[in-house]
Amino acid sequence: MSNLAPAAAPEPCAGEPGPRPTLEALPGRLTDLGGLPIRRLLPRSRRRLVGPWCFLDSYGPLAFSSGKPMDVAPHPHIGLQTVSWLLEGELLHNDSLGLEGRAGPDMLNLMTAGRGIAHAEETPPENAGRLRGLQLWVALPERTRATEPAFDQHRALPVLELPGGRATVIMGSLGGTQSPARAFSPLVGADVSAEPGRRLVLPLDADFEHALVPLQGGLRLDGQPLAIDTLYYLGCGRRELPVFGETGPARALLLGGAPFGETILMWWNFVARSLEEIVAAREDWEAGRRFGDVEAYRGPRLAAPPLLARPVAGP
Ligand code: MN
Repeated sequence: MSNLAPAAAPEPCAGEPGPRPTLEALPGRLTDLGGLPIRRLLPRSRRRLVGPWCFLDSYGPLAFSSGKPMDVAPHPHIGLQTVSWLLEGELLHNDSLGLEGRAGPDMLNLMTAGRGIAHAEETPPENAGRLRGLQLWVALPERTRATEPAFDQHRALPVLELPGGRATVIMGSLGGTQSPARAFSPLVGADVSAEPGRRLVLPLDADFEHALVPLQGGLRLDGQPLAIDTLYYLGCGRRELPVFGETGPARALLLGGAPFGETILMWWNFVARSLEEIVAAREDWEAGRRFGDVEAYRGPRLAAPPLLARPVAGP
């Protein structure tokens, strides 16, 4: 997906990892893309990063009988990985490497943008008429952010079975269960299911900061009922996370990672470090350089929005 409403000026995003366990609720900010409801959960003014996770949109649920509720024309990315994860429905990815990935529930579409790639994501013509999913970005660390672009699809992700539920490990590792997906810094992304009436204890890495985003059903944490599509920031220092499944099936996304330690500059679909890099990437996209064409997509590509640099105070 494309960042649909970018700020005109690039936004510096730094982590502010909570040194101790905490529980901060950040309700998703609602936007709408042609009838497809989208909640923006990262970045937010109060929380820009969770480990290397720098972007999270939750969309749907939506039922439809015609058309393409998801139709994001070709657009460029640099300096990040896109993680596309569906709870319901289908998504068709095509990119400028000529790769195609048709994804459904429990399938990971992982695109490593590195120094530059373009892709399109759309609802395929044959579909279930329902759509519910997540779009995430992982910021790449300085040493690897200019890596070669790549696209991988994973159809058989490992599942950590636990008393009271399970967790599909999408990225990184959880409780010793490791995702095969390529990652560039220590992190976890997992789709957690809790059985109703059961307590589920997720094993965490105490060196990571974490967040939990309830997606379906009812969950309690610390005796408190959790709201759907709200990002609960948990801080660092937790060795485990006990959640209670109230009404089911209850599902939540667990995000975490080592505090990123680098300030990134985000604008539109770019993760960079300097304004010059963003200007260069924008000019390359507008001039048809660097990123290549998404030949499989029928229709015009997205134009870059106007870029306004924030005035910098003089000496
Ligand atoms: Mn995209």
